[in-house]
Amino acid sequence: LMFGKARTCNIVTVPEHEPSECNIVILGAMGSGKSALTVKFLTKRFISEYDPNLEDTYSSEEVVDQQPVLVKVMDTADQGGPVNCERYLSWANAFIIVYSIDNRNSFEACQQYLETVTLYSKGLQPEAPVILLGNKVDMERYRQVSKADGAALALRFGCLFFEVSACLDFLSVQHIFHQAIREVRRE
Ligand code: GDP
Ligand code: MG
Repeated sequence: LMFGKARTCNIVTVPEHEPSECNIVILGAMGSGKSALTVKFLTKRFISEYDPNLEDTYSSEEVVDQQPVLVKVMDTADQGGPVNCERYLSWANAFIIVYSIDNRNSFEACQQYLETVTLYSKGLQPEAPVILLGNKVDMERYRQVSKADGAALALRFGCLFFEVSACLDFLSVQHIFHQAIREVRRE
């Protein structure tokens, strides 16, 4: 039995100006454009040559639907599929899994990521939203993965699906990251 002073409960109110946080991890095969998408979102610029082995996490203060949010983006650089996933699984509030529409292998690689991530995420409360993202739509002439194939894979795993290009307009890239944040808020 506990005795003595009653425990006091401090109610801490979060000031309205303090941004909430959202951690987004970008996954996918090497060369699918993870870094190009991340850099585009953060700087509005397309960087065509980016160190393929560089893995880093970036922060950006965003305003989504008039609400501030501190977004952290982990741009991963896996060598071969989902290995050492612990570093991002427990960290992430949302997952963006990228393939390149002009590379069938990069699409096949998404399946492993989807399995790993959805298996983990389904056990979470709240669940972490997952977005499947076909990149490089500017390479339409060399398309190897139809939009229907992308949509079908997303449907199988119950995740959202978009196609985009890191080297075309900024707003459609931004839209995907903002959708991830909106999904996290809804959970
Ligand atoms: P990562 O390994 O997934 O980080 O891929 P990168 O961001 O380093 O991109 C790999 C290659 O694809 C680079 O040569 C980029 O310039 C190119 N790339 C990335 N995004 C696009 C895109 O949307 N369209 C085209 N045409 N090339 C892209
Ligand atoms: Mg990269």
